[in-house]
Amino acid sequence: MARVVLENIVKRFGKVVAVDHVSLDVRDGEFMVLLGPSGCGKTTTLRIIAGLEFPDEGRVLIDGKDVTDLEPRDRDVAMVFQNYALYPHMKVFDNIAFPLMIKRKSLGLTKEEIKKKVLEVARLLKIEDLLDRKPGQLSGGQQQRVALARTLIRTPKVWLMDEPLSNLDALLRLEMRAELKRLQKELGITTIYVTHDQAEALSMADRIAVMNKGRIIQVGTPDEIYLKPKHVFVGKFIGAPPMNIIECRIARIEDKYVLECPGFTRTFPGQPRNIREGMRVLLGIRPEFVEVYKEPKPDAIKAKILVTEPQGSEIILNVDINPEGEETLLKVKTKQGPRYEIGEIVYLAPDWTKVAVFDKATGSSLI
Ligand code: ATP
Repeated sequence: MARVVLENIVKRFGKVVAVDHVSLDVRDGEFMVLLGPSGCGKTTTLRIIAGLEFPDEGRVLIDGKDVTDLEPRDRDVAMVFQNYALYPHMKVFDNIAFPLMIKRKSLGLTKEEIKKKVLEVARLLKIEDLLDRKPGQLSGGQQQRVALARTLIRTPKVWLMDEPLSNLDALLRLEMRAELKRLQKELGITTIYVTHDQAEALSMADRIAVMNKGRIIQVGTPDEIYLKPKHVFVGKFIGAPPMNIIECRIARIEDKYVLECPGFTRTFPGQPRNIREGMRVLLGIRPEFVEVYKEPKPDAIKAKILVTEPQGSEIILNVDINPEGEETLLKVKTKQGPRYEIGEIVYLAPDWTKVAVFDKATGSSLI
């Protein structure tokens, strides 16, 4: 087990700054997810921790020891990739045993001891029955388990995973998510996991580091990231559908600050700090934090239904909240039940304690 600290890591590839002053403190035994869109620098950050890339600036510390210049084999980390890279000519048993076999002499292990370890991890990953097969005779999910088993055989201090589930079909992915999470908790190995899938991140992580353009935008628990995005990028990246973003203006009515938005005006939802009259802001409303009424309600926002998207137990309504002006689209997720017709007028009551307001100029949260 280990604590992993990144201090101001910078990595450039020619003119591209792949990792831009990234600092991160991963606690002992923690499941940390690096989340972000394609090209944001997640894989490069992970490879720097693994020792497969060396940073131009900054330091990597594992348990307080500076490993920045150490080769991967001297770091006691294990990495699982998206493509499992098993040896096709070797049986599953030998694939799993491989990391120990190549170091057998220096580790002072007998073949019997190695066999015992292989059986142990195979049991853990429920692949005892597959040990005599070759990778070509396995399903994608089974191959992935073998790859995971191979990284666990040395009981690494740090487990690094780069989109390890992305080649699996949707159902298997859901199953493996839960299994991996259980395994990680059982073993207590500090884990850093890269994905661009926000649902995967929310469901697996102890904490998430959201990245964009080489930088970490926010680090927090899944709840913090989901409920309190510090930047509009995080609000828009997390959630399915993501947070609705509506451009509004700050105005003053009597001595109160209000949000003037397309189709409605509302008291500023939160402590009015760092705001001024005339300022352009982005109001963030999650589709699932809005009640939908068929009858007018005080303070509710009048909206016209444009499209309905049934989702089984829920339905997503695409509505225009400014039916008398320029169309302003909002997605609202609500329980299935009442029948909604296209063109129908409904009344929306957002939970104003769960909205976000961002500065349009900087994207940073104002509440
Ligand atoms: P993805 O989810 O698509 O794998 P990512 O977030 O992992 O993306 P990286 O692979 O870390 O992103 O890449 C970050 C940036 O660095 C990208 O612009 C990429 O093109 C660039 N990059 C990565 N590796 C190299 C390399 N070896 N040579 C040149 N540019 C690179």
